[in-house]
Amino acid sequence: MTRHHFNIIGFIINCTWIALFIKNPAMMWILLGLAGLLFLTFLTIGVVTPSNNYFLKQTTKLTTDKVLLTFDDGPDETLTPEILSILKKYDIGALFFVIGKKAEKNPQIIQQLIEEKHKIGNHTYNHPNLFALYRQDKVEKEIGLCDNVLIEQTIHPGNYFRPPIGYTNPRIARALKKFNKKSIGWSLRSYDTLLKEEDKLLYRLTSRIKPGDIVLLHDNLSLTATVLESFITISQKNGINFVTTKELNTILP
Ligand SMILES: [Zn+2]
Repeated sequence: MTRHHFNIIGFIINCTWIALFIKNPAMMWILLGLAGLLFLTFLTIGVVTPSNNYFLKQTTKLTTDKVLLTFDDGPDETLTPEILSILKKYDIGALFFVIGKKAEKNPQIIQQLIEEKHKIGNHTYNHPNLFALYRQDKVEKEIGLCDNVLIEQTIHPGNYFRPPIGYTNPRIARALKKFNKKSIGWSLRSYDTLLKEEDKLLYRLTSRIKPGDIVLLHDNLSLTATVLESFITISQKNGINFVTTKELNTILP
């Protein structure tokens, strides 16, 4: 946490202390309410914005001016191959955060990812939505099981991890240390899980993309697969360079 984080926490604690010693009950509740609201806002922003590095240090930007595409929640039997053919056409190398149980069902796509020189990251075995509330042993089990699926397919599970929903906590930080993995966040969230229209998704991506971005997309969504090629070509016309399969090894060793 930065000094900025400690200042906010200090302010919240002070508000709470003043509130407890104040004689006017209405004022006391206002101050306590304010402290509570600030705490919740701070926690929510900290947790959902990976660049805040709230609980653990995550990579959220590249040190080059290239753009890295990341795809979560696959592999999907039909959509991942569609996405792969578009990436191949433009020689773009991407990082795929796979869900262990889907990787187990689609070993041929995992092989294709490797053959086509993309990188694979661990996105847990079950993708539990309440992962951030899991005990230490369950956190480690989720990460270990996903690694094991890849190892059984004779694939090195790699050093990269992305927590489901992007939430982090000290237990996840400890588990990553144990597995020697690095957490990769993002600087551009596509919101492809929420947006329903192609135009809106394409506009969001092409209007916000900047050199050095790590883009969060999902390879299990047909909207993403539909928009991907236009996103790539428009961005390239606007001077954006995506990481190539060759550059992927230097960027993600
Ligand atoms: Zn996910």
